[in-house]
Amino acid sequence: MSRTIILLGPPGVGKGTQGVRLADALGWERIVTGDLLRAARRQGSELGQRARRYMDAGELVPDEVVVGLVEEKVSRVPDETGIIFDGFPRTVAQAQALDGVLAEHDREVERIVLLEAPDEVLVKRLAGRRSCPECGAVYNVHFGPPEEEGTCDRCGHDLVHREDDRPETVRRRLDVYREETEPLVEFYDESPCEVVRVDGDRPVDEVQEAVRSAVAGDGGSGSP
Ligand code: AMP
Repeated sequence: MSRTIILLGPPGVGKGTQGVRLADALGWERIVTGDLLRAARRQGSELGQRARRYMDAGELVPDEVVVGLVEEKVSRVPDETGIIFDGFPRTVAQAQALDGVLAEHDREVERIVLLEAPDEVLVKRLAGRRSCPECGAVYNVHFGPPEEEGTCDRCGHDLVHREDDRPETVRRRLDVYREETEPLVEFYDESPCEVVRVDGDRPVDEVQEAVRSAVAGDGGSGSP
C-alpha cells in the first residue's frame, strides 16, 4: 500500500514550506486544499465563487466542497505514489470523509505530522509571507526571502501576499483552527495512526529534518 501522511498545524506554522520540500525529496504528490480552492477562484468556476466569501473571511469552506475536490485529486494520483495532505482535513467530518475516499483507492492515513508554534510566531510569519500562486512555494520576506524579490525561485512566477494573511483575518483563522481543526489531534490520537509532534518554531532546515524523520518513522519531534 502506498504511503499517505497528513501535515497538520495552524496557519503560518510552515506546512506549505515543509510540504513542498518533503514532496520534492520523496517524489510524492501534495494535495493542498487551500491551493485547489485558490485555483478554482482564479478560474472563476462556480465552486471558486462559492468558496470566495468563506476564504476572505477566514472561515472554513463547507466540508462537501473540499471533500469533492480531494476526491477528484486523489483519484488522479498513481497507486504507487505517496500522498502528503496539507490543509486537509480541517474538521472531524472531513477526516471521516477522507477515510472513505482513501479506502476506495486502497490507502489509509498512516501518520500525522503535527507542526506546532506559538501564536505570536504564526502572526509574524503570516504578515511577511509571500506565496507562489503557480507552484505553491512559500517564502518569507524576513526569514526566507526568494533570491530575486517578488519572484518564485522554483518556477519564476510572481509572488503574492495573500489577501487572507491580513492581521484581522489571520486572527480569525487562528480561532477557527483552535475551534474546528485542533479537535482532530484528539481524533487521530485515538485512532490507529500515529501523531508525531514537531516543533515548527525553528529554522526551516531543522524543521525539515525533523519532518523527514517523522515520516521515516525514526522519531522526529526534535524536542529534547
Ligand atoms: P490555507 O491556504 O490552507 O490557509 O487555506 C486558505 C483558506 O481556504 C482557509 O482559510 C479556508 O477558507 C479555505 N480552506 C482550505 N482548506 C480547507 C479545508 N480543508 N476545509 C475548509 N476550508 C478550507
